[in-house]
Amino acid sequence: MSKVSRRKFLAGSLAGGAAVMVAPAQKALAAGNFSGFPDGMGVLVDMTRCVGCRSCEAACNKEQNLPAPEQSFDDYSVFDQTFHHGTQKRRPTEGAYTVVNRYETEGSDKPTYRKIQCMHCNEPSCLTSCFVKAYTKTNEGAVIYDEHVCVGCRTCMVACPHHIPAYSYSRVIDPVVKKCIFCYETRVSKGKPPACVDICPAQVMTFGKRKDLLRIAHARIKRNPEKYQDEVFGEHTVGGSAWMYLSGAPFEELGFDTDLPTEPVISNVKGFLGMVPMVLAIWPALFTGMHLLATKNKDHGHEDSHAEEGEE
Ligand code: SF4
Ligand code: SF4
Ligand code: SF4
Repeated sequence: MSKVSRRKFLAGSLAGGAAVMVAPAQKALAAGNFSGFPDGMGVLVDMTRCVGCRSCEAACNKEQNLPAPEQSFDDYSVFDQTFHHGTQKRRPTEGAYTVVNRYETEGSDKPTYRKIQCMHCNEPSCLTSCFVKAYTKTNEGAVIYDEHVCVGCRTCMVACPHHIPAYSYSRVIDPVVKKCIFCYETRVSKGKPPACVDICPAQVMTFGKRKDLLRIAHARIKRNPEKYQDEVFGEHTVGGSAWMYLSGAPFEELGFDTDLPTEPVISNVKGFLGMVPMVLAIWPALFTGMHLLATKNKDHGHEDSHAEEGEE
């Protein structure tokens, strides 16, 4: 089984089991039924402008109150880091919701920098795969989650076609999933651009309504066809996303998965449902038990802290 098809199979398998639990409540998100968020916001990332300063990483760290990084944000040696025998570059983690990587591409003497974070998909498979409904797609386009509801089952990590959710391995008790939340509470819900967008000194990112960003993106390509690839990544991939990219270099040379389908990942799940019925029986039962246990523990924690507050 090839790398891509194996991953799609796994994504389908885990999301499939969970989909049984969430299907009625999230019917509107099923492929083909999704009416979308016509006035949803988004970000257009023009990678031809990025200079790799990592200011966006620093801004995200501050805005989201994330722990201090192991290497400071002005340490550019991070661009040399590779993993899995040199096949992968840095990915977002529980302590860094966005990272910037450097790529040398064929036919160009200048590197290209790519900022990675959650794409805030139009039809998010993290959401449709989560049987405890920890995720929400807001009208503004942000895909957010409630970590008090998350049971740390990691289904969304497997379901995400962009490999974004990270696991909080540092939390020994009650680990949860972590990812970019589009600065929803502090900024985007108030009409303000995300912190990473705001700080960028090279105006790499444009914040606005998704439909306007698409117009801007295609106008840039039309004006400068020799500068840009004739594609807006995120316009159609897995149903489209709020975050989209313009590139001078071929997207596949920058670590983008150009084999992803245009249909949302949830539609792959449908085929899987018929294949492995046992998963459907076991998976929800297993994680319902986990959820009840985790909720019970959390409730105890809350009671304890309330009791402490009440004590004088
Ligand atoms: S990129 Fe992944 S984590 Fe982000 S909204 Fe899409 S499916 Fe969810
Ligand atoms: S949108 Fe907010 S949470 Fe997401 S990468 Fe940017 S600063 Fe971080
Ligand atoms: S702040 Fe802007 S120029 Fe600097 S790395 Fe981030 S996207 Fe690139």
